[in-house]
Amino acid sequence: MSYNNCQNPKCHYNDTTDRIRGSKGNKVYTTRKGTHYFGIACTLGCLNEFWEHHKEQIQRAIPPMPIQSRPIDTYYHWSSGELRKLENSQS
Ligand SMILES: [Zn+2]
Repeated sequence: MSYNNCQNPKCHYNDTTDRIRGSKGNKVYTTRKGTHYFGIACTLGCLNEFWEHHKEQIQRAIPPMPIQSRPIDTYYHWSSGELRKLENSQS
């Protein structure tokens, strides 16, 4: 699913001129169309507000993760996504 506009329910609370729409005498601040941040929000500030506003729903949707661990003689190779063994390790 992708969003067409910023999902921060308070996006239009920001006083920026690019949010102003409507004809003279009838102008309003609107939600921005941009979703550059994770396809969710127009700015990092709006993304933060989104997490804060939907925190409980996110916590209900994603079960708690137990503490994770890895052997001390390993490292995570971020580009391949592999857990690799350290060479010359003493353990
Ligand atoms: Zn926004």
